[in-house]
Amino acid sequence: MSKSRLRFAPSPTGSPHIGNIRTAVFDYLYARHTGGTFILRVEDTDRTRYVEGSLEEMMKGLRWIEMQWDEGPEVDGGYGPYFQSERLEIYHKYAQQLVDEGKAYYCYCTRERLEEMRKAQEAAKLPTGYDRRCRELSADEREACAAENPHPVIRFAMKREGRTEFDDIVRGRVGFDNALQDDFVMIKADGFPTYHFASIVDDHLMQITHVVRGEEWLSSAPKHIQLYEAFGWEAPLWVHLPLILDTTGKKLSKRSGVSTSFYDYILQGYLPDAMLNFLATMGWSSGEDRKLYSREELIEKFTLEGIVNHPAIFDLAKLNDLNGEYIRMTPVEELAKMILPRLQEAGYVSQSPSDEEMRYLIEITTLNRDRMVTLGDAPDLVSFFYADDFVYEEKGVKKHLAKETTPAILKSVIEKLASVETWDTESIDAAVREGGLAVGVEGGRVIHPVRMAITGRTWGPGLFDLMQVIGKDRCIARLHRAEEFSSREISMS
Ligand code: GLU
Repeated sequence: MSKSRLRFAPSPTGSPHIGNIRTAVFDYLYARHTGGTFILRVEDTDRTRYVEGSLEEMMKGLRWIEMQWDEGPEVDGGYGPYFQSERLEIYHKYAQQLVDEGKAYYCYCTRERLEEMRKAQEAAKLPTGYDRRCRELSADEREACAAENPHPVIRFAMKREGRTEFDDIVRGRVGFDNALQDDFVMIKADGFPTYHFASIVDDHLMQITHVVRGEEWLSSAPKHIQLYEAFGWEAPLWVHLPLILDTTGKKLSKRSGVSTSFYDYILQGYLPDAMLNFLATMGWSSGEDRKLYSREELIEKFTLEGIVNHPAIFDLAKLNDLNGEYIRMTPVEELAKMILPRLQEAGYVSQSPSDEEMRYLIEITTLNRDRMVTLGDAPDLVSFFYADDFVYEEKGVKKHLAKETTPAILKSVIEKLASVETWDTESIDAAVREGGLAVGVEGGRVIHPVRMAITGRTWGPGLFDLMQVIGKDRCIARLHRAEEFSSREISMS
């Protein structure tokens, strides 16, 4: 059996959509699973929708999620060029072949005529589509038309009767009535091919074995099947992926309340492997009841038969949960390096951190990683480890700092802490409790005001652990600051 060859064929029309990346994930996993080839092909034939920079973003995104293509831009594989805009001669040659064989034809109809035709069809409540006026032109008529419109398009002559049927790996046998099909444009007036034509020619020439694409292309498949038949080429296997819906059951879109831009997830600090895991299981199942798959496991287990035949749900809660798990599975030194740029940007860590700064960062990372959903959470979560002049959380001020008893409690705790010699968690724990007992309070009544004093918040990692990391002098200074603040609050109330 020949090796599998799968292409991911994005159009550079904007920032990569999460649904497109899901398609790429399936291409990649199946290619890796079968020891085949993963190809990146750039479908840049629609000049009106071209967006500068979007291909670069796509390539960066694919590399970020560690799905390096084996052939495509920057990686020659012998089937190039991999940009459709550089293959125009090839399309013209094959289009001409179909014209010569009577399977395609020049269409001279002007935009105005097509527009009128469409309006008339709509008014008569008929299905819209090209009325095939140019399909049966005599040589003379054609010459007259060409004189009037020197930039004809080339249309494919679709069958008018019967059905076009094919097997889809996900859906089984699928069929469409030919009477409802349109003589679609293969080559546009500007000389560029349409997606329908270019992708078939390329899939054939690039020896693509499996076409994996979104369900929205299913209804175009009859065009593609008939093109294969017209050329006498063997069609690849078809794999139409399930739609992606949001958690309310609507098609995932900007209105879904979650971003559809792949880049947003990168920027927010999702991890590549978590994202891969999430996207791979959005429409595919190994049949086991599990949520975590390493890259290697996905490659090993991924089969086309596991693609589900019902819509997939984009569940942000699931992604967050997964990402948290991946964060906790990441060795702490590595995680510290991952959040470093974000802390540098926040101004917490210097541009070339000293060993001391890195050691501190690792300790902080250890204490905070359980609470991190994305790397983007880090600057806020750890801010008080760096900044001493934080603002006290309002809720905590009311509950813990604006209380009559607080200044005395803090003062007492300061005294006990000042005499701690070995600044470790046990000694801090003991000193804080003793400080409370000395003024007649224990448990939460001492812990909460101290936590507010040290962190400005009512929540966070274990208090004694974080105090140990922040250090004795800074903790005592913060307790003084809170004591003064507390006295002021009380005197003002
Ligand atoms: N350029 C098409 C798209 O971006 C590719 C569809 C296909 O994979 O055939 O949707």
